[in-house]
Amino acid sequence: MHHRIGFGFDVHRVEEGRPFWIGGIEIPHSHGAVGHSDADVLIHAICDALLGAANLGDIGFHFSDKDPQYKGIDSKLLLKDVMLLLREKSYEVGNIDATIVLEMPKINPHAEAIKASLSEVMAVAGDDISIKATTNERMGFVGREEGVACYAVCLIYKVERADNS
Ligand code: MG
Repeated sequence: MHHRIGFGFDVHRVEEGRPFWIGGIEIPHSHGAVGHSDADVLIHAICDALLGAANLGDIGFHFSDKDPQYKGIDSKLLLKDVMLLLREKSYEVGNIDATIVLEMPKINPHAEAIKASLSEVMAVAGDDISIKATTNERMGFVGREEGVACYAVCLIYKVERADNS
């Protein structure tokens, strides 16, 4: 089977009193990520990995942060659109592996809820979505809790059509 690999990276500033959206789940915390959209760093990294694997450009190309229609948008809608773009090219997701880099809050207690959220949005089995987290050992902008970063990789493959169309 013909597989293609994709890689995505995203980073957002973090500010007090903002909702913290990670993988379509609002994580309870004193601070949250800031951006043009809902600043869901995990979904953005996954979108970029998927788009990269399909050679479809990047998230900024498809959903410009200058475009008012994406102001404050729920990133789950962006991920849904990315999945449509992939499936238009007959791609299906093999698996996704992501690492969120932040000091606080702990992500592990929310990992299953995040997986379930992504699984539903993408129509991909939860077993094919891996969500991990690490701190930045108190170093740099992540260490000072000024920002959050996320890395994601994915495999996609072409779906063979039985009717040869
Ligand atoms: Mg982003």
